[in-house]
Amino acid sequence: MIHNLSSIPQPLPTEPPTSLGNADTQTHSLSRSRRNIGEPGKYWPQNSTIKIAMYDYEIEDEYVQAVMRAANQWLPHINLKFEFVTGDEGDVRISQNLRGDTGGSSAIGTDSQNSPWLPSMLLPRNHEDPRFEYVVMHEFGHMLGAHHAHQHPDAHIPWHSENVYTGYRRLANLDRQGVQDEVLPLPRSSTYDFLPYDMNSVMHYHVYESMTHDDFGITESWSISDGDIAWAKKAYPRAPEQP
Ligand SMILES: [Zn+2]
Repeated sequence: MIHNLSSIPQPLPTEPPTSLGNADTQTHSLSRSRRNIGEPGKYWPQNSTIKIAMYDYEIEDEYVQAVMRAANQWLPHINLKFEFVTGDEGDVRISQNLRGDTGGSSAIGTDSQNSPWLPSMLLPRNHEDPRFEYVVMHEFGHMLGAHHAHQHPDAHIPWHSENVYTGYRRLANLDRQGVQDEVLPLPRSSTYDFLPYDMNSVMHYHVYESMTHDDFGITESWSISDGDIAWAKKAYPRAPEQP
């Protein structure tokens, strides 16, 4: 099946790939604390069903099935439901990233509804890439209202500011404002619900040693962490199980 995706505009800057090769993957072992950052003003109504439009894909297509397998990993921890549909009408509209194979992007929470004529989420084209599942879970975290865990004001990542600006310009074509919005710490504002910093969050970027002082690095983790689960349960609490 041929998807004419070039007709769908690309609304959002995409997030960086991580593979720079093996030289940059050493990590410091830090204490493993938990959790995440949410923006409650953009959470979806409790117990609602989010309609997710896949444009011209059929739901039984392998691509959609791969998206669903990854995205649905959030479902046991929240009280929302996802309804995947063909077409362009949905609370969330998913297209593919045409600028590269490994990055994605998503509006935060209900911001997904702001421009219904545009996709609200871009995902990589190749669902067989080993990193695909991680990107889907990460972008669905944004769609649910989560921000980046590495932007926690308590993260204390020793960024080398010039290297982080030049590095992300090269990796993801982010300008300085983009780096401030997507990479550097968020202000301590009541807009956000800061749970304790979690370096294992699926919402955390890979931290390259080339962009920090003292060879500091953190490896991307490709699964929903205990901290992500704690955030999800707080944002969308499920009713207690009936005995
Ligand atoms: Zn992100």
